[in-house]
Amino acid sequence: MGKWIPSTEYINSKKEELKKEVIGLKEKYGRAPSLSVVLIGDNKASQSYVKRKEKFAKEIGMNAETLKFDYMNEKELLELINKLNRRGDVDGFIIQLPLPKDINVNNIIEAISPEKDVDGFHPYNLGKLFRGEDALFPCTPSGIVNFLKFHKFELTGKNAVIVGRSNLVGKPLAILLLKENMTITITHSKTKNLQEITSQADFLFAAAGRPLMITKDYVKEGAVVIDVGVNALDDEKIIRKELSSLPEKIKSFEKRGYVLVGDVHPEVINKASYLTPVPGGIGPITVLTLIENTIKAFKKLKA
Ligand code: NDP
Repeated sequence: MGKWIPSTEYINSKKEELKKEVIGLKEKYGRAPSLSVVLIGDNKASQSYVKRKEKFAKEIGMNAETLKFDYMNEKELLELINKLNRRGDVDGFIIQLPLPKDINVNNIIEAISPEKDVDGFHPYNLGKLFRGEDALFPCTPSGIVNFLKFHKFELTGKNAVIVGRSNLVGKPLAILLLKENMTITITHSKTKNLQEITSQADFLFAAAGRPLMITKDYVKEGAVVIDVGVNALDDEKIIRKELSSLPEKIKSFEKRGYVLVGDVHPEVINKASYLTPVPGGIGPITVLTLIENTIKAFKKLKA
């Protein structure tokens, strides 16, 4: 039986460090680092993510604001981005995804000044990542690597398999793990014999957005399994059948009508050596890393 490895210890330890760092930066530069988050529309999940980002920033003494809009077209959003690029009191900002369907996401990402791109999605920052140079890296993959290092996992020479090849998670994660001297396999929806490949992984990263798809048959005995997926599951039959070993999940479903699950089936805990939970695993790490990126951007802009 493996161990659940929540991110609480990592987050709490980092939070204390960041609080102290922000006090020091305030003394040195006369103000704290500042994050702006742009939220368009009424997507419930986005609203909750944005709230957490602003809350975390304020808890460590940073300035944070959320700019909320019911709707905006691409031209209006590009104008807002230009303003944020120029604002001297904003060190980093993000445009919360997903965006309304008529907005071209790549146009938006490319309009953000790379120095303020604390989500790390701008091609300049991704190019730097690709070349192995320092930059603002995408929060989820960069946070995952920092988390593994915090827990002192030996990464060099180990086999990493990533399920998912998105620009947000899978691809940048592969590059960052390569930098840690791991041997990487990236898999996706067209991969043949997925189970055979994932069963070779010393470290398995699940980022497919497919609830509970990684069952124990996909996992090597003793593997470290990082569950990136966050999925709202509301199928009562599946929930009662698959999550019967986790009474708190059943209770949560009875209260809310859905339950948050990862891409990894909880039965994997019986085969893996470590498994991150959902919620309480990679989600909070993503928020932490966004804050770290904002502090990094602030220091660079002041340097
Ligand atoms: P995307 O939908 O952009 O990408 C999903 C990837 O998974 C694609 O590359 C897709 O392949 C692949 N995939 C889908 N189904 C399968 C399958 N059956 N077998 C193998 N590969 C498959 O999602 P994201 O990368 O944005 O997010 C992935 C998950 O991570 C989601 O659950 C999301 O909510 C979560 N997430 C969590 C974060 C956190 O902070 N914890 C942050 C960001 C995301 P193909 O390219 O062929 O379509």
